[in-house]
Amino acid sequence: MIFLKKISKIIILIFLAWNPPFALSNDTVNVSKLRISLIQDGARISIDTDKNPTYEVFSLQNPSRLVVDLANARFSKDFSFPATKGLIDGVRFGSFDGEVSRIVFDLKLPLKNIKTRIRKPSSGKKRMLHIEIENHKDSFTLKNTKGNKKSKKTKSNKRKSKRLVVVIDPGHGGKDPGTSYGPKVSEKDIVLNFSKILKARLEGGGYRVYLTRDNDNFIKLKERVEYAKKKGADLFISIHADASQKSSTRGFSVYTLSQSGLDREAEKVAKLENNRSIFSKKALDGVNLRKGRSPIDHYYINKAFERVKISSTEFASVLVSEVSERSKLLKRPQRYAGFAVLKSPNYPSVLVELGFVTNDKDRSNLSNRNWQESVAKKFVDAVNEKFK
Ligand SMILES: [Zn+2]
Repeated sequence: MIFLKKISKIIILIFLAWNPPFALSNDTVNVSKLRISLIQDGARISIDTDKNPTYEVFSLQNPSRLVVDLANARFSKDFSFPATKGLIDGVRFGSFDGEVSRIVFDLKLPLKNIKTRIRKPSSGKKRMLHIEIENHKDSFTLKNTKGNKKSKKTKSNKRKSKRLVVVIDPGHGGKDPGTSYGPKVSEKDIVLNFSKILKARLEGGGYRVYLTRDNDNFIKLKERVEYAKKKGADLFISIHADASQKSSTRGFSVYTLSQSGLDREAEKVAKLENNRSIFSKKALDGVNLRKGRSPIDHYYINKAFERVKISSTEFASVLVSEVSERSKLLKRPQRYAGFAVLKSPNYPSVLVELGFVTNDKDRSNLSNRNWQESVAKKFVDAVNEKFK
């Protein structure tokens, strides 16, 4: 992490020194050639373009990679990746869409330094993006002795000890009772009860579990999201119960963030001055936001939301199928809405409606310990399935 921080600092400095401010432009940049040459302690990558490219260069670790993102790039028909050389072990497209093209260089060693600059030949419009990378000198010796073994061992130990974090969010609380039935049945109590049972079950399954509230407290929606981010959530489950005008309406349902909710939130985050603070450390792996607005910033923010959306929807569908063995399902049990607690790019999240307090059968289930336990067990099965 320290290494990455250092690198990003270096990159920012280099940007300030060499790169004009990003322009929000739809101008297509044609990329004609990519070359790799060896220099002392590293390599130089040259990318030929027909005008100044909008780009971003950064490194990733485990495994070590250099990432070059180019906005609005088109590759010429005869473009091909060069043979690998020196510390560069492979070159490939990381992702490729209309807005940003990513080229990934697999590296044999971690990087110490990255320098980028645009070169302009004396005549013509052509530009060259030069990226010079320098590896850690010490790493050569490490690699040839026990360095590799050592790092492998640390990695597997880390994986073993890493417990996945599930944040359960009992809806409502305090002055906000949620839905109710008569004077005695309140959503806030039902969902807190169930959440505590679910927490115990998940902990039994080896997960680290946190509740956004464990008593009858009122907590703002934003604070619930912030709490999950702070706890490093791998999964967020908000627990609710429903009510309907029709007493016959019953069944379990799961909500994930709707596309319009996602688009609006991504747009909002992209406009924030300090949008980096929205992302958790985990979510920032592979995300690289700088100050200022650029197509690349927008791209990362959208990608981060899209990624968790796919993951959330997958979990929702597994959960519905598991719970269907123990509970009746609402018609179209997998639904989409713009709920505020689902608006995070940091972890997959779902909002569950356990059943309807306005339906006799559901209401009796919701207060029945056996039903609660058996449904909670199905939640654990779904979480296991998600993280297997
Ligand atoms: Zn609710």
